[in-house]
Amino acid sequence: MFRYTSKHCKQCYLQEDPFHNITINTQGLCNLCENSTRTPERNWEKRQKQFEEIIAKRDRSAQYDGLIMMSGGKDSAYMAHMLTKKYGLNLLALTIDNGFEYPETFENASTIAKKLDMAQLVYRINPKLMQEYYKFLFCNPAILQKDCGQVCTFCGRFLVRTATELAANMGIPLVFSGHNPEQIFLMGESIEEDPDRITMMEFTMALVQEDTATAVKAWEKAHSANRTGQLLFPLKLSADNVSLVFPFQYFPYEPDKMRETVQRKLNWLPIKRFSKTYIASGCKLVKLWAYLAHCNETNNYVDFEFSTQVREGTIPLSTIKNFYTESAADLDELAELTHDLNMAASLQEMLSSHFGKENELHKKLAS
Ligand SMILES: [Zn+2]
Repeated sequence: MFRYTSKHCKQCYLQEDPFHNITINTQGLCNLCENSTRTPERNWEKRQKQFEEIIAKRDRSAQYDGLIMMSGGKDSAYMAHMLTKKYGLNLLALTIDNGFEYPETFENASTIAKKLDMAQLVYRINPKLMQEYYKFLFCNPAILQKDCGQVCTFCGRFLVRTATELAANMGIPLVFSGHNPEQIFLMGESIEEDPDRITMMEFTMALVQEDTATAVKAWEKAHSANRTGQLLFPLKLSADNVSLVFPFQYFPYEPDKMRETVQRKLNWLPIKRFSKTYIASGCKLVKLWAYLAHCNETNNYVDFEFSTQVREGTIPLSTIKNFYTESAADLDELAELTHDLNMAASLQEMLSSHFGKENELHKKLAS
């Protein structure tokens, strides 16, 4: 999200990044672009059929056909539109409040729910627990990654698990989540045919399982063997008796078209907290881990997502360039967030022991 070098790929805009082995060749291309073969052909007709089979099996006597995770972003808005309008599903919209969302998240989610005549549930997780959880994700050295990817990896899994637990308790058989194809892959839920992709996904999942075990141990150590570790770091993404469905692996993912559709049909508004050029939204924590990745001179997983989307032609390079040009770290906001998380001292310590160079946030927190 923030640039740390002018050495970037001319095709996908990814920055040179020794940590992730991203190099830029003399023609100005990164090794991902240089080695990229065409996107694997997917049989969308067959996938759509598979999707329709899943929803055809639903229990029609239940109060809701499914629960839909509603983050207020364009992906969940588009998914809600498709599931209700095209497939006529009766859905409960779930918006999870982790305590660090922007107000627009709730405004967007509620506009969409009203517009599509969906019941809506805003579920606020115990704020004290969330504060402790995020402090742990940002500052515990046992799980720290150079690109700060641990924050979203763990939190993403926890939120999906939370949604499926709620659905299970309410007797709702299906949970729909609007994660994009890259994110689905990183959660190990992607339908893959290519043997290399399957191996890569299995490898990624083995790492996640390993990291999860480490996290549970570190959490329990820091919280006197408190059992919440199992709850916050689930090994399985989904609760029992619930089917978790990621619609964007059954239909082509076309972010630009999707955004245009939801703006036109649902009065959906782009959340411009990260940049005046909207590509994706997220919670307040995104800016902090993006800033930390930038201090460590690494791309973060969102940078990788954008570069994949450019490479696959789903987003124009000019949009990505504008996004980065218009995004800047706001140190006051980051410092305020750090204080809200009650972790100024821990973060300062972490910054001085794990981040080589003096950085602006460290100075700000010290002042
Ligand atoms: Zn590239």
